[in-house]
Amino acid sequence: MKITILGSGTSTGVPEIGCTCEVCTSKDPKDSRLRTSVLVETEGKRILLDCGPDFRQQVLHLDFAPLDGVLISHEHYDHVGGLDDLRPFSRFADIPLYADEYTATHLKARMPYCLVEHKYPGVPAISLNVVDASQSFCIAGIEIVPIQVMHGRLPILGYRIGKMAYITDMLTMPEEEYEKLHGLDCLVMNALRIKPHPTHQSLDEALKNVARIQAKQTYFIHMSHHIGLHREVEQSLPSHIHLAYDGLTIEV
Ligand SMILES: [Zn+2]
Ligand SMILES: [Zn+2]
Ligand SMILES: [Zn+2]
Repeated sequence: MKITILGSGTSTGVPEIGCTCEVCTSKDPKDSRLRTSVLVETEGKRILLDCGPDFRQQVLHLDFAPLDGVLISHEHYDHVGGLDDLRPFSRFADIPLYADEYTATHLKARMPYCLVEHKYPGVPAISLNVVDASQSFCIAGIEIVPIQVMHGRLPILGYRIGKMAYITDMLTMPEEEYEKLHGLDCLVMNALRIKPHPTHQSLDEALKNVARIQAKQTYFIHMSHHIGLHREVEQSLPSHIHLAYDGLTIEV
């Protein structure tokens, strides 16, 4: 399995517009973070995790090949703002999207031109599948295990694919969901910044969950400029825990 971090940044991206802090003005490319999204390639299939407003820029330099499905964590714009740019990929075949019921309802309201029964001509050929957080399902024969997490008070979805899991925008996880994360080789999980936040894990909160989940390797995503410089934070972490960066590929 190959995991590509297409974007590792929070909703604003890094640099933040107008900010002159040391992270936003850093010359290190690892301090520039597009909005969070991950591509998983396994058994000849390609599955996209979230599709934010930087999607077009994130895939322009990649091989142009079919996408077998798109797993959506929740309806916030930084995770769905690029869905219209699936259009070129949908020429290979219709692309199934997967989201929980709340997210699906909001997407239909936001993109009626391509998510209604009678579509406007030329729109992306995408279809919406509602995910029940308690039921695994398959995309092109690949088993997907949804994981319910809490984004503050909003229930949203993480996903496990084989021995990797993707969890973003989480503050807390219901006790019973931890069982779905046993035996991971790679955990990709959010850590926003150093100080606590009402709807996202801080670095310390993320590290507590990493210690509990015990994946072989963990990569943090959805980071803001308040996490600090990549190089300095990376040096402070144990050798199996890393800050992800845009363009990073991980072989599992
Ligand atoms: Zn987000
Ligand atoms: Zn900044
Ligand atoms: Zn969010």
